[in-house]
Order: sequence, then structure tokens, then C-alpha cells
Amino acid sequence: MDSEPHASPAFFVLGSQRGSHHDAEFSTVEDRERADAKRCPECGGVIGMRTWLPPYRVELRLLGATPGDFLQSHGAGADLIVSQRLADAFRAAGLVGLKGFDPVEVVRVRGKRGTSKDADVAMPRYFAVTTTFGSALVDEARSHILRPGPFDCDYCRAVGTDGINGFTLEPGSWNGDDVFEPRGLPGVRVVSERFARFVTEHGLTHMTLTPTERYVWDPLGRFSPASGE
Ligand SMILES: [Zn+2]
Repeated sequence: MDSEPHASPAFFVLGSQRGSHHDAEFSTVEDRERADAKRCPECGGVIGMRTWLPPYRVELRLLGATPGDFLQSHGAGADLIVSQRLADAFRAAGLVGLKGFDPVEVVRVRGKRGTSKDADVAMPRYFAVTTTFGSALVDEARSHILRPGPFDCDYCRAVGTDGINGFTLEPGSWNGDDVFEPRGLPGVRVVSERFARFVTEHGLTHMTLTPTERYVWDPLGRFSPASGE
């Protein structure tokens, strides 16, 4: 039996389910002041966007019928808010890796075409959260990631990427966090199998879970043959 390989834990990239019944995104209302971005504990290099500060006030853009449990900010999706339902269930389940849970005030809701929406939309309470960095290390040899250059720092490996065509985490490097940004891919939100089961069990909405091995981010079209899509 001990010659049988252990199944490696599966990981998924967390994203928003665009076009769904629960599709929504948000913009921050006050955004003049931001805290400094997170920095690598080893090299001190920047490993993310500048951090959102209170008051956590947002304008919601509702693209579906009702807003989902997991919403990302417009554009790069750097900021994150989650519903009270998700927040309560996350803590009750003893999951780890999301931090903050600061109350968010939704000051305005707009529809698809920028029109103001009436208050008849069932609006959950939302909480601002951030994800931990450094819980696991990308296995470069078993991943397909275009790098613009070599790493300066072997801890954060925050050299950037020009494209991703599936990636794998180094066996044994994971510390058990359920939501995190891995060393080597800061800004990419990865979740555990436990988190994936949690999403299904609670029927949480507006989340996609893509196995990391099948995750494609290809802004330069380097992994896809020249075609319409
Ligand atoms: Zn570093």
C-alpha cells in the first residue's frame, strides 16, 4: 500500500460567475486614500494593489436579478465583498484564509444601463474581506506560466505573468488555508477542496471554481490558436 501515490489535494481558482442570475459588481465610493499594498516579508517588494480603507462604501452594479454572495470590484476585481450568509457560514465551518469581514454600506444600486434601481431588490448585508498571501507555492516545472523574467525573490516570486495555461501548487508547500493567493501568482485567488464543497453545500452564488490545472488567463493569445475565441 505504501507504494501507492497519495492523491494530491485539488485546488481551484475562484472567480465570478459572469452572466448569471446573480451577476453584480461594485465600485468603491471614496477612494482617495488607500493603504500601502501588501509587501513580501522577505524582499519587501509589493505583492498586490493598494489596500481599501474604511469607510467601506460601495455602489453596486446589478447585472442579474439579485446580487450574489461573492462580488468583486469593477475592473481588475482587486477588492472583494461577501454576503452575510457566506461570512457566517465560512466562520461556522471553521474555514481560514479570508480576513477582515468589515461591514460594507451599499449607498447606491445601478442597473445594467447605469439607471438607478428601486429598493425592491433583496439586498444582503455585505462584508469587505481580503485573502491571505503565501499559503502555498506554485510549482513552476509543472505549470504553464509565461514569465517576463527570472525571480528576484524566491519567497514571493512576484515577477508577474503574461499568461497562464494551467498551474499546479508544489506538493507539501500548502499550509492548509482555504482561500489564498499563492507564492508565484499574487492576485490569483485559489481555494481548497474543502472550500469548494462548502460552496456547493451552502448553495452560494456568483462563484466559479476552476481546477488550477485547467485555469487559463491568456490576454496576449499565446496559448490559443488564432481563432475568433
Ligand atoms: Zn519577495
